[in-house]
Amino acid sequence: MTTNDVEIAIIGAGFSGLGAAVRLKQNGFDDFVLLDRGRDFGGTWRDNTYPGAACDVPSQLYSFSFAKNPTWSRSYSHQPEIHDYINGVADKFGIAAKARFGTEVTRTEWNEDEGRWVIDTLQDGKTDQVRARVLVGGVGPLCEPNLPDIEGIESFEGKIVHSARWDNDHDFGGQRVAVIGTGASAIQLVPEVAKVAGRLDVYQRTAPWIVPRTERAYSSVEHWAYKNVPGYQSAVRGGIYAANEVVAFGLTYSPKALKPVELLCRANILRGIGRDAELRRKATPTFQVGCKRILRSNDWYPALARPNVDLVTDGIERITPSGIVSRDGTVREVDVIVVATGFHVTDSPVFEKIIGKDGRSLAQVWNEIGMQGYKGSFVHGFPNMMLMVGPSTGLGHTSMVYMIESQLNYLVDYLKTSRALGITRTEVKLSAQQEFNAGIQHKLRNSVWVNGGCASWYKDANGNITTLWPGFTFAYRQTTRSFDVAAYDVTRGARRPVAPAAPAGSATGEDVASPATANA
Ligand code: NAP
Repeated sequence: MTTNDVEIAIIGAGFSGLGAAVRLKQNGFDDFVLLDRGRDFGGTWRDNTYPGAACDVPSQLYSFSFAKNPTWSRSYSHQPEIHDYINGVADKFGIAAKARFGTEVTRTEWNEDEGRWVIDTLQDGKTDQVRARVLVGGVGPLCEPNLPDIEGIESFEGKIVHSARWDNDHDFGGQRVAVIGTGASAIQLVPEVAKVAGRLDVYQRTAPWIVPRTERAYSSVEHWAYKNVPGYQSAVRGGIYAANEVVAFGLTYSPKALKPVELLCRANILRGIGRDAELRRKATPTFQVGCKRILRSNDWYPALARPNVDLVTDGIERITPSGIVSRDGTVREVDVIVVATGFHVTDSPVFEKIIGKDGRSLAQVWNEIGMQGYKGSFVHGFPNMMLMVGPSTGLGHTSMVYMIESQLNYLVDYLKTSRALGITRTEVKLSAQQEFNAGIQHKLRNSVWVNGGCASWYKDANGNITTLWPGFTFAYRQTTRSFDVAAYDVTRGARRPVAPAAPAGSATGEDVASPATANA
């Protein structure tokens, strides 16, 4: 076993982890390592390769402000292009040399005596250990597939595939396929699988609200303008960002204001399904629009209306070795079951692997108090650990990359403050964490997520919404602009001088500190 001592360890090489690596490097924090169990950068955009996988946030917003991409081919990007973009950013900023791929973090524990995180890893069957003063968790909330707990599922003798662990070698041609789930992943993969499957049964527990997807290819003139007209791309990003923030107002403060969105969704159903009133009824949600994530698609409803597709809404009774029995007793034999049933978000197994100062895991702590932290970033009891896309940072209306960049500002300022003040140990005060969360819950009280009449993964086991940032994202940008050391218990002390002073003029992200609309 080799031991590696570094100043900062980042876990995860998706948008969060890569963004952290770039910003650390730009600010002169060079003693870090990036650990990821996969084989390259990309995180969720590396892992989700199901047919039709695409982003439902406009391309212009789905990139770093410090690495804008003038060459997006379409107004909404598909998975391969986003994956390429992320790897391109890693290349551009020379991050590959810092990354250890194929390295799974099996456990990490805060060692109070050493003032370090001890990180156990597994690489090609070999255990190893990394010690780091600061831990940055960039594993993301959508990384651990959730397999449905349905009676008999283990007895199924055909193929079972989760949307996030797609088998691209499998030929669905002519096969009898069942898809369980009708969330963001399912509505993208069903239209593609339906084109080749012999028969496709879609098992829907809750119908989603879906707006049309205004996707189009960019023209050569637009590409030219994005590349050559100063400020043009920032202006477009700003415009899209501002338009999306209007939706945040409806979601958080005035769900009635979302009525036009509902009408748009209803028109989408009518346009996509046509005359089949029974199918339209089954496909129409019964909760308020926005309560669950609003989805985007032009081809979901036409897919449901195909002669080889059946929308099953009776609920699943059990799975047999050869098929699925629905609650009305109907047996449907299938060759493949696709589980598009989402992820462990509020109950991720990752939480069990992170052990804080009292020997208690994040899972144990959050089982008691709910999934909460301070500014979505720090958790009391877990010194020197910053979580990217932590509690209360999720969104229902715009780009997570904006939230990630806000957190990166906070991370960099935390490290700079620690360096300037000689701080070696930082733990958020319980009182600051509690106050922050009380504020979040207060802000949520009139929101559609609380009052919209749905069950969603936004809620934890106690029914509290611990995943979402309520309100406007520029408010989050503001609250994470600088590190508020007063909210933390800190220890100053001698430490090895690992981080050199930031080089003069080092970028903090070309426009990261500029107005929200410029870097959305
Ligand atoms: P999801 O939104 O959690 O949807 C899971 C689906 O599976 C829901 O329809 C759910 O029904 C159903 N389900 C879960 N357990 C079930 C069970 N035991 N029996 C029957 N049905 C069951 O998961 P997802 O579609 O993978 O999306 C997860 C998140 O990933 C999204 O919210 C989004 O943030 C992200 N995503 C984004 C994009 C994008 O375009 N940017 C694309 C894909 C995914 P209920 O609704 O009744 O719970």
